[in-house]
Amino acid sequence: MRIVVLAGGIGGARFLLGVRAHAAEVGADITAVVNVGDDAWMHGVRICPDLDSVMYTLGGAADPERGWGRAGESWTVKSELAAYGAEPTWFGLGDKDLATHLVRTRMLNAGYPLSAVTEALCARWQPGVRLLPATDDRLETHAVAELPDGRRAVHFQEWWVRYRAEVPTERFVFVGAESAKPAPGVLDALAGADLVLVAPSNPVVSIAPILAVPGLRDALTAAAAPVVGVSPIIGGAPVRGMADKCLAVVGVPCTAEGVGGLYGARAEGGILDAYLVDSSDEGARVPGLAVRAAPLWMTDERATAAMVAAAVDLAGARG
Ligand code: GDP
Ligand code: CA
Repeated sequence: MRIVVLAGGIGGARFLLGVRAHAAEVGADITAVVNVGDDAWMHGVRICPDLDSVMYTLGGAADPERGWGRAGESWTVKSELAAYGAEPTWFGLGDKDLATHLVRTRMLNAGYPLSAVTEALCARWQPGVRLLPATDDRLETHAVAELPDGRRAVHFQEWWVRYRAEVPTERFVFVGAESAKPAPGVLDALAGADLVLVAPSNPVVSIAPILAVPGLRDALTAAAAPVVGVSPIIGGAPVRGMADKCLAVVGVPCTAEGVGGLYGARAEGGILDAYLVDSSDEGARVPGLAVRAAPLWMTDERATAAMVAAAVDLAGARG
């Protein structure tokens, strides 16, 4: 069985732990297609927050409290940069993490595409999942917002980390998306999949930028495999993070149904066939989708593997 998972950072990473545990039981191989919209240049190095969250989490090296970056991190470089007044001072650049960015930047500068760089970094972390960036091309999420210095577009990282998503925001733009191509392996993975899962990731700034890569959304809608989404919203609340702020920008209610409706049914121009919501959202309805409820709190690997088993079951139930 071949499973493809569309994933963002923390939610995607935790979900993939469960997919990997489930796959070990049933003998499946997993390809994760990961968002690159958060990627940015900071202090001259290329940062790929979502790819790194997934890589560190699956590699057993992520900080479990923070949810991003390395466990046992130190911050010497960050404080030294701040002592120089080197911007951006709001960005958390850990010492261990920096080594990853240095290796990546060196390889990118030598001409390797991000997909090859990711594969090289994964040789160390052995995530047990094939990690593919959605695209090797530059695709960056920017927010058009009212900032202290006026209305302008700002990189998603700055909007999220520096402004805490607390500035009036008109919309998100996926800069570069029009000319981006799916990374090598992405289209083949979707075409050859037996099951596609949309992780409980932020629908607006993690999943949407993946789908914004021309050809990728078409490959998903044309895939022979069933596509099952897992709700990132439980009982009207984003479990971790600020998905509510992002959903508000696109005018979608912060509910399991709201997100299901945003994704929509494949038969009606959307991307899903079936949708898993939390037990507390039992009774949720989304036009065109087979909806089922199961516990969706990713408290540990076992609970998350049970969630994945429920998604696999739902895919089978709808044929
Ligand atoms: P990011 O890129 O690091 O922001 O991470 P993702 O986009 O992959 O995932 C963030 C989203 O995951 C959050 O907005 C939550 O809605 C969702 N999430 C986090 N923890 C859980 C959980 O335990 N269960 C479910 N169903 N969703 C979760
Ligand atoms: Ca992210």
